[in-house]
Amino acid sequence: MVTPDEDRVVLKIGTTSLVTDGRLEPEKVERLCAAVRLGIRAGLAPVVVTSGAIAIGRTRHAALGDANGAGQQVAAAIGQGLLYGALQETFASYGLETGQVLLTPYDLIEADRGERVRATFDEMRSLGVVPIVNENDALGVRNNDVLAALLSGFLRAGLLVLLTNVPGLYDRDPQLGGKATRIGKVAELTPQLEALAGGTVVAGGTGGMQMKLSACWIATYSGVRTVIADTADPAVLVAAREGADIGTAFAPRPVRGAWPDAGRLWRAFRTPPRGAVTCAPAGLMAIEHRQALRRIQVTTARGQFHAGDVVDITGPDATLLARGSIRYPASAVEFGCEPGTALLVGSDYVRIRRDAP
Ligand code: GLU
Repeated sequence: MVTPDEDRVVLKIGTTSLVTDGRLEPEKVERLCAAVRLGIRAGLAPVVVTSGAIAIGRTRHAALGDANGAGQQVAAAIGQGLLYGALQETFASYGLETGQVLLTPYDLIEADRGERVRATFDEMRSLGVVPIVNENDALGVRNNDVLAALLSGFLRAGLLVLLTNVPGLYDRDPQLGGKATRIGKVAELTPQLEALAGGTVVAGGTGGMQMKLSACWIATYSGVRTVIADTADPAVLVAAREGADIGTAFAPRPVRGAWPDAGRLWRAFRTPPRGAVTCAPAGLMAIEHRQALRRIQVTTARGQFHAGDVVDITGPDATLLARGSIRYPASAVEFGCEPGTALLVGSDYVRIRRDAP
């Protein structure tokens, strides 16, 4: 049994909780600083993951307002320093020394890079320096909820808190009217629960709550308790740590034996699924033994997925068996592949429920 580092907590805060019209909102930053300071006073070692670089950078150059791709990366390159500079100053006014760490998921997945990253975090902790992490967006923009989840597993944190502008996951969409009730505790993530996060997950939404649930899969399968909560209260971090009834808390899966492989979790959960393949009985056996799933072992494909996309692997009765990165697009699965083609190999997917991945 691997024991997590209970006092290490990862606190992620999103753009909309910090930035309005391209500017950091001072009182929101202060709230974050207050939350971190309260956490440190309670004996925690917080690692902060912040977004906002792109939103800030976009307003600094006329051509970057709604740019995608390279333009978005340039917006981040402009905004990253401005974001960190402002955060550093406010944290300092709270008596907290910070250091900036820009990461990509690959820094946490690849063993040789990971060793150096771990050394940095360990040294910052022993020196009392609060890490302020963001994705190194100038090299490619992904999602910070997912990065924070990978980081929480990598650091063996006791807790991941995803701060957002809603108070958690609801049993129905609060915007549709009617009475929606907050779900306080989730013992186990399921597709039914994902459906509550809005829209059909198979259609491949990248909406806020769906991405947060992708992050929850990664963190909870890494043995990290995860709480989605509102940013409003500076006591949020300590309250989440104490198990108070705030937001939505996702129970960790117990980790037995070797620590879960971050690369496998990343391949399986880095986005919501873009589609699904249904297994024939021989496919069930392949998944059972964590072997390659071949075209001949699959009956149907659903969704417009591309090679490398995340898909669900379901049984004939639509039970979710596994989730992972498929190597061929939907069109090839339907029409082109030879029967023996491996659509996913064993290291491409995580078996739901069964795997301590
Ligand atoms: N890292 C990006 C930023 O700082 C945001 C990515 C995200 O929102 O998840 O702007």
